[in-house]
Amino acid sequence: MRIWFSFIVFIISAPSVAYADNLPRYDLAVSFDVAASKISGVSKITITKGRELYFRRGPLDIRYIKINDQHVEFEQRQDIFGLTPDHDGVMEIGFEGTFHSSQGRQRHDGIAANTIDSEGISLTGLWFPILEGLSYYSLKASLPEGYEAISEAEEITRVLRDNTVEFQFKFPHPLDSINFIASQRYTIVRDRYKDVEILAYFFKEDMKLAETYIEYTKKYLALYEGLLNSFPYKRFSIIENFLPTGYSMPTFTLLGSSIVRLPFIVETSLGHEILHQWFGNHVYIDYDSGNWAEGLTTYLSDHFYQVQQGKGWEYRKQILIDYGNYVTPEDDFPLREFTGRMNHSTRAIGYGKVAMLFHMLKVAVGDKVFFQALNDFIAAQRYRNASWDDIRNSFQKYYDNNLQGFFTQWLDSTGLPQLTFENFVLIQTGRTFTLSFDVNQDEKVFAITIPVSIYMSDETIQKSITVTRKKQSFDFELPGKPSKIVFDENYDVARILSRDEMPHVIAALSGELQVVVLPEKNSDRYDGVIQEFQDKGARIMHAADITNEDLKNHALIILGHDNPVIGRLYGNVPPENAGFSIRILENPWNRDKVTGIISGESREEIDAAFYKVSHYGKYSTLLFNQGKNIAKEIEETNRGVTMELYREPYAINLAKIETLTNVIDGVSKSKIVYVGEMHDVFAHHAVQLDIIAGLHRKNSNIAIGMEMFQRPYQDTLDRYTDGSMDEKEFLKRSEYFERWGFDYNLYKPILDFAKAEKIPVIALNMDREIIRKVSKNGIDALEQEERALIPEGMDFTDREYRERLHEVFKHHANNEEKEFDNFYTSQLIWDETMSLSIDEFLQDNPDYQIVVIAGTGHLQYGSGIPKRTFRRNGHNYSIVLIDTDAEKGIADYVVYPKPVEGITTPKLMVFLKEVEDKGLSISGFPENSVSEEAGLDIGDLILFVDDVEVTGIDDIRIHLLYKRKGDVVKVRILRSEEDSEQEFVFDVTL
Ligand SMILES: [Zn+2]
Repeated sequence: MRIWFSFIVFIISAPSVAYADNLPRYDLAVSFDVAASKISGVSKITITKGRELYFRRGPLDIRYIKINDQHVEFEQRQDIFGLTPDHDGVMEIGFEGTFHSSQGRQRHDGIAANTIDSEGISLTGLWFPILEGLSYYSLKASLPEGYEAISEAEEITRVLRDNTVEFQFKFPHPLDSINFIASQRYTIVRDRYKDVEILAYFFKEDMKLAETYIEYTKKYLALYEGLLNSFPYKRFSIIENFLPTGYSMPTFTLLGSSIVRLPFIVETSLGHEILHQWFGNHVYIDYDSGNWAEGLTTYLSDHFYQVQQGKGWEYRKQILIDYGNYVTPEDDFPLREFTGRMNHSTRAIGYGKVAMLFHMLKVAVGDKVFFQALNDFIAAQRYRNASWDDIRNSFQKYYDNNLQGFFTQWLDSTGLPQLTFENFVLIQTGRTFTLSFDVNQDEKVFAITIPVSIYMSDETIQKSITVTRKKQSFDFELPGKPSKIVFDENYDVARILSRDEMPHVIAALSGELQVVVLPEKNSDRYDGVIQEFQDKGARIMHAADITNEDLKNHALIILGHDNPVIGRLYGNVPPENAGFSIRILENPWNRDKVTGIISGESREEIDAAFYKVSHYGKYSTLLFNQGKNIAKEIEETNRGVTMELYREPYAINLAKIETLTNVIDGVSKSKIVYVGEMHDVFAHHAVQLDIIAGLHRKNSNIAIGMEMFQRPYQDTLDRYTDGSMDEKEFLKRSEYFERWGFDYNLYKPILDFAKAEKIPVIALNMDREIIRKVSKNGIDALEQEERALIPEGMDFTDREYRERLHEVFKHHANNEEKEFDNFYTSQLIWDETMSLSIDEFLQDNPDYQIVVIAGTGHLQYGSGIPKRTFRRNGHNYSIVLIDTDAEKGIADYVVYPKPVEGITTPKLMVFLKEVEDKGLSISGFPENSVSEEAGLDIGDLILFVDDVEVTGIDDIRIHLLYKRKGDVVKVRILRSEEDSEQEFVFDVTL
C-alpha cells in the first residue's frame, strides 16, 4: 500500500464521453470563501428546444441567468423555477450560497445537509441549482491549497496553481444530483482490488483505521462480484466526514468520524454502503414507485452477514419483532409508497418488510434464478431510475410461474399475515400416525407457503403448507409419534409473530400512550425522563392515585426501583446493580401491554444514559454506568409457532414408595413445611397432625400457621393456646363458625395438640370482609383504611396459577372476564396475606420452624403461598399434598392415607334465617329432620338450646359440638299463632 499525502498532485487524463441519450450536460464550477461559509458557482447546462427544465433553488441566491449569453429575467423568490427553451443552446446560472454549520442542522435526522466551515466542507443537500431528472455532470472546484476534495467521479484531476488547488470531477453516466466533500485534514491511502482503485480519505487521528477499511472493502468487493455483476466503477473511496453521516454515493461512501470509529462498522455498515454501489448508485431508484433498494441492500448485506454465521433466522425474527413493535395500523403503508427512512416505523417497513419480500422471493424461485434475475436487473437498469416492475420483469424472465400475484400481494397492501394454528388431532392408524390441524388467517388473507418442522423421537421431518384462504385444514401422514410441531421455525415468512415469539422489549414502549408513575422520593432526578414521555403525550401520575383499572389498561413507565406500583404488580423486582437501568416486563393484567421500570442512582446517571435508550429498542434489560452500557439482554422467546403434540406421561416406581415417617424425615430440615388438605376430610387432618407431632419430636421450636383463622383474631388464638381462654369462648370470639364454618372436630385434634404442647398457632388469613369486597367489586372499591391492610407486594405474574384459578372460577361462578379479575385479585390477596403472616412470624421468631396448613389449591406447584413466601424471605420449604395427582412439580411429597372416621358434630337439621330484632327463625327443614320430627315448625323462633341462650347460629353449633348422635337437647321456641305468641319446649333427639 502506498500513502499519498494531500500535497501530491495526480492527474488522470479524461477520455471523451459519448452521450448516447438526449440528457442535459451540467457543468458546474464552484469556489469557496471558507471563512465566510460561502460558495459561489456557475452552472452551465445544455438545453434543447421544447424540453422543459425545472430547477430547485433552495437557500441559494441566484445572481443571474443567461441563455446563450443573453440575460434572462427571473423571480428570485421562487423555490422551483422552470423554463421551456425555444431553441437549443446553453443556459448559465450564477449563484451563491452561505452554509454555516448551525443553519444546516435542520433536517429530520439531525445531520446538516450542507456545511462550509473551518472543519471542512460537506455538501450533500441542495447546494447548487439542482436540475430535476438525470443529467451528465462535471464539477470543477477551486479551494485553497491543502484541501483534498471528493465528488462522484470516475476520474479526478487535481492541479495546484498560485496557492489554489483546482479539482475536476468527471462522471460519465447520468446522475440526478452530485455531492461534494472537502477538508484540509485528509490523508489519502490508496490500494487496488483487481482494476478498481480503492482510496481511503481519513483524518490524521483516524489514519490507523484506513488499512482495516481498505481490507474489508476488498473483501466486500470480492463477495459481491461473486454474487452480482462486477463492480460498476473504476474507483471507490471511503471518506471520513466531520458530520455524522452514513451515506453511499456513486464511487464513494461518506461515514462520519463518530461512525468510522465504532469497531463493528466494518462488519456491517461498510458492506451495506458498498452494496449500495450496485443498488441505488448504479441502478437508481424510481422513488415514485417505491424505494426497493434499502430492503434489497439490507437483505444481501446486514442479513447476509448473519446468514454466513448461521444466524439468518435470528435476523429475520428481529425484523418481524421490530415490525410488531414499531408499526401500528395507522402508520403502516404499502411498500410502493416507501421513499426513505424517517423513524423506526418506516424503517421496519421499508428496510425490514422489503428484506423479507426478497427473502420469500429467493425461497420461491431458488438461489440460482434469484441471482440470475438480479444480474439481469442490474445490466438492464444501470443508470436508470428502476422500479419494482423492472425487478419483477427481470425475475419473470428466469422464472416460469407468474409472479404478478406475489408482487401485488406484498407491494400494494399494508400489514402482514396473522396466522393461528388450532384443532390438532393425532390418530394412530396401524403403524403410521395422521396429524390434522387447521390454519386460520386474519381478515386480510395472503397466499403464503409456511415451512413446518415435525419433531419425532429420532428425527425432524420438514414439510410445508400453502395457505391461500381464511381457513384451511391440513393432514400429514407420519411414520411415528410426533412430540411437537413448529411452524416457520426459521422465519422464512413475513408474518405477525405469535405472542410466545415476541419478547418484551423497549421498542414496545413506542407508539402508544403510557402512564408514567412518579417515584415516591427523588422525583426530580427523573425530570428529563418525565419531560420526554410528557412530550409524547403520556399521563404523569403519583403512585397513590393509580387505580387497578389504570394498571390494567396502559403501558406503564414506573420510575424508581422502590416505586410501590412495582409491588402491586410483581411483588417485588430486585434493584439492578447499575447507575441506570431499564427493564421491560409483561403487564400481568394485560398481555398486550408492557411495563418499563426505569431506575437511576442520580440525575447525572439518568441524564447520561436515558437519551441513548431508544437506540436499544430490541432489548428487554439495559444497564448503564455513567452513560456507558454495561449489560443488555433480550428476553428469550419461542422459535417459530410451537405446538406440543405429545408428552410422555410421568410414572412412579412403586419399588421406591415411602411412608409418612420418610416424609417427615425428608421435610424436617425445611424452615417452612406446607401441608395441604381437603378441608372436610378427617384423614388429611390426621396426616397434618402426624407431621406436626413428628416434627415437634425433632424440634420443639415449631409453630403452626393456619389458613382457617384471620389475622385480627391472633390474640384470641394466643389466649386459647396458652390456656387463659376456654374452647367455647375461643370459638365464639374467633368467630370460627362464621368465618370458616367447617365442623370444628376436623381441626380440634390439631389445636388440642398445640395447646397441650404450647405450640404457637398463627392466624394467617386476611379478614373475610375484605376478600369478599374485592371479589365482588375489585380492589379499587376498598376504602383507604381497608387498603392499608393489603400486602404491599403482590405478584400477579404466575400465568399458570391464573389459568388454574380460572378453571375454578368457571365452575363456580359466571365467567365474565371482569369478574374473574376480581376473583383472581381476591385469591391473590388471600395468598399474599398468608405468605406475609408467615414471613412476619419468622422475622419475629427466627429460631422457629413453621408448619403451614392450608387448602391444596393454595399450595400446589408452590403458586399460592410457598413461592410468595420465598420471594419475601428466601427460606427453604417443602410442600406435602394429600390425595392429589402425582404431577411433576406439584409438591415434594404426595401422601395417600387410609380413610379415617372422625367425630361428626350432630345437627338440629333446621334451616335458619335471622329475623331482625327477634332472633333466629326456622325457615325450613331438610329431609328426615330430627327437629321436624320432634314437632318444631317453620316460623318458630329459637330462644334456647338446653340452657344456652341463642343469639346466633354459632351458639347452637358450639353447644352441639359437645353432643353426640342420639343425645337429647331441649329446644325452647317462640311460636306465633294468630294474635298470640307462646313459648314451647321440644325434646329433639339428635
Ligand atoms: Zn442503505
